[in-house]
Amino acid sequence: MDFQNRVGSKTGGGGVASASEANVNRRERLRKLALETIDISKDPYFMKNHLGSYECKLCLTLHTNEGSYLAHTQGKKHQTNLARRAARDAQDSSNVAAATGSNQGPLQPRRTVIKIGRPGYKVTKVRDPVTRQMGLLFQVQLPQIANDVTPRHRFMSAYEQKIEEPNKSHQYLLVAAEPYETIGFKIQSKEVDQSSGKFWSHWDKDSKQFSLQFFFKNTSFENDAANANSH
Ligand SMILES: [Zn+2]
Repeated sequence: MDFQNRVGSKTGGGGVASASEANVNRRERLRKLALETIDISKDPYFMKNHLGSYECKLCLTLHTNEGSYLAHTQGKKHQTNLARRAARDAQDSSNVAAATGSNQGPLQPRRTVIKIGRPGYKVTKVRDPVTRQMGLLFQVQLPQIANDVTPRHRFMSAYEQKIEEPNKSHQYLLVAAEPYETIGFKIQSKEVDQSSGKFWSHWDKDSKQFSLQFFFKNTSFENDAANANSH
């Protein structure tokens, strides 16, 4: 039987053919575009595996040739994963900045309340002159804090937070004061000395500054605390 002669088969077949043709053209166009703009040898996610095919280490996809891989890098999946990765990397570096006291980019837990942005803050390393304990002084400026709000703080374990991959060597100090965004400071997960005089916080309503200071409990390795923020 010759199906080609059936009524309607030509237009139907033609439709399918042109759709896949368009797809081929599209992939070819993307591949050329990618070849012109991308140096594949510098792509950190490009990997040739032991079977001779190619993998995207970011998306964990398999590709039969370079062109297929390059077309993939122009696709939505890869672009989305790249954006996610970039956002996470930015978050990581800003957390380091936050913990080391440089004045930008603290960790921001997601909130539903309309926020006015992050408060200014300052982090200072302190040391008890008698016990030699290492500690941190946080000063958060909240000039726009709402009238009926008192700043709150709490410590959060690496496993409780949902912003980063949990790492047991870190914990977080969160300071919340609406309508500001809650900020989180990444600190080492060493036991905090809660004894009186060692841990204090103060909300100065007049200067609108929230201060909090604590010391880490001493261990046999006192110098650990000195490395608190270098991770
Ligand atoms: Zn990919």
